[in-house]
Amino acid sequence: MANDFINTWLNNMKVFDPRNLVDERLLEIVTKHHPLYRDMASELSLVCVEEETDQNIHVRMDEGNNVQLAIHPMIRPTERDLYILYHEFGHIGDRLNPDFHYDHDTRLSLSFSTEKCLLVLWNVFIDTRLNQHGLFRLPAGGLVEITVDGFRYRLPRNDISTYLLEAVAGLSSQGVHKPGAKVTAIWSHPGRFLSFSDLLDLA
Ligand SMILES: [Zn+2]
Repeated sequence: MANDFINTWLNNMKVFDPRNLVDERLLEIVTKHHPLYRDMASELSLVCVEEETDQNIHVRMDEGNNVQLAIHPMIRPTERDLYILYHEFGHIGDRLNPDFHYDHDTRLSLSFSTEKCLLVLWNVFIDTRLNQHGLFRLPAGGLVEITVDGFRYRLPRNDISTYLLEAVAGLSSQGVHKPGAKVTAIWSHPGRFLSFSDLLDLA
């Protein structure tokens, strides 16, 4: 008997979202019309949607192109929610893009610190391209505490300089050389394509 929760549409990509966390039309838009990688839906087998815990939104994909998305409920999505979906599937789009040369074995061999830096840089690389397409959205408000070089700052989340400083602080905490220059270079050149190994060289 077919599982009632599994819906199939578009090139056999299946969606498993038993708690109805994400409006299916949103997943359709994002996987079919993603500006960083068009029609990833045709290459994905299954998207499993589960609720994130502790604000730990993430996406994973196995060798069979099965995607696991951990996310908050998005039935009446804001523009920020839509951006978050585009961001998470930006990782998937890059992995599917032959020009990105994603190397999962290399990634698995990275230290915790290098993996963290890789993610920070990759996130900025995804966001600057989404920004170019008018899809990047900062959080609506609130404050975030950021420590850089021993100085602690409390800054508004809805400010691009806070977003960039957070990335710089993430790299700086892992001892990356010239983190500000690296983050700024990625953010200010959305048209310059970086491969997986380019990002790794910066991490
Ligand atoms: Zn990310």
